[in-house]
Amino acid sequence: FEAKASNQAIRVFHQDIHQQLTQRLEIEQGIRRALDQNLFEVVLQAKYNLQDMHLNGYEALIRWHDPELGTVPPDVFVAIAERVNLGEELDLWVLSNVLQQIATWRQAGYQVKPIAVNITAAHFSQPELFNRVAEMVSHLDLSMDCIELEITEGVAMGNSQVILDNLQAFKNKGVNIAIDDFGTGYSSLAYLKDLPVQLLKIDRAFIQDIEHPKNFGLVNAMIAMADAVGMQVLAEGIETERQRDILLKMGCDLGQGYLFARPVSYAEIEKGWI
Ligand code: C2E
Ligand code: MG
Ligand code: MG
Ligand code: MG
Repeated sequence: FEAKASNQAIRVFHQDIHQQLTQRLEIEQGIRRALDQNLFEVVLQAKYNLQDMHLNGYEALIRWHDPELGTVPPDVFVAIAERVNLGEELDLWVLSNVLQQIATWRQAGYQVKPIAVNITAAHFSQPELFNRVAEMVSHLDLSMDCIELEITEGVAMGNSQVILDNLQAFKNKGVNIAIDDFGTGYSSLAYLKDLPVQLLKIDRAFIQDIEHPKNFGLVNAMIAMADAVGMQVLAEGIETERQRDILLKMGCDLGQGYLFARPVSYAEIEKGWI
C-alpha cells in the first residue's frame, strides 16, 4: 500500500513539473512573440503626495493580453523573462514606449509629471544601461528627469562598481531612483543612505496589515529612519482610508494604491486632463 501511494505521489509530482515547464516555455515563446509584435501595453498608476494630495508622478506597469495565452500577470512573466535573459529587452521596450508617450504628450502641449519605470535586477548591473537610456531620451528631445527608475533592494545592496556608476550617472542627470518593495529583502538603511537613491517604496505587504502591531511598528520605524537619512518614503498598495490616515500620521511622504487610483491606460490618463 505504501509503495503504491508513493508511486502515485511521484507521478503527480512529475506531471506537475512537466506542466510547469511546458507553461514556462509557452510564456517564454509568448514573450518573444509579444516583443516582436508589440503585444504588450503600458498602464500608469498615479502616485500622490499624502500630505496635500497633489499628484507626484506615475509608475509604468506592463500588461500583456496574449491572443493565445490570455492575460498573463506581470509578476509571472517578468520573472520568466529575467530567467531567460529577456529582462533587458522587456525593460527597454517599456522605457521606449513610455518615452514616446511622454514626447507625444509634450508635443500636444501637456506638461507630464515624471513616470517611474521598473528595471529588472540584472539589467541595472549593465554598464550600457545609462547611455542607452540617455540616447533614447535625447533622440526624442526630452530631458532625463521626465522618468524615474525603480530597482529592488537586492540591486541597491549589490555593491558593484557598475551599479554605483549607474546610480551616480542617473542622479547627475536628475533621474530619481526608488528602492521598490522595500522591507521584503535584507537591505540595511545604514548602507542605502550612502547611495544616490531618493525614495523608498514600502512593500504593499506591510501596508495591507498595517494595523497589526508588528507591521505598525516596522512601518513607523521605516518612515522615521528614512526621514532621518533624508530619503523620501512612499507606501505601496494603500486600499483603505484607515491605512491612509495611519500613514499620514506617521509622516509618510507619498502614497500609491487603489484607494487613490488604479493603473490605467494612456487614453484614460488623457481623459483626466480634459
Ligand atoms: P511593483 O513594481 O511593486 O508594482 C506594484 C504592484 O502593485 C502592481 O502590480 C500594481 O498594480 C499593484 N498595486 C498597486 N496598488 C495596489 C493596491 O492598492 N492593491 C493591490 N492589491 N495591488 C496594488 P502589477 O502591475 O501586477 O505588477 C507586479 C510586479 O511586476 C511589479 O511590482 C513589478 O515588480 C513587476 N512589473 C510590472 N510592470 C513591470 C515593468 O514594466 N517592468 C518590470 N521590470 N517589472 C514590472
Ligand atoms: Mg515598482
Ligand atoms: Mg513595488
Ligand atoms: Mg510590490
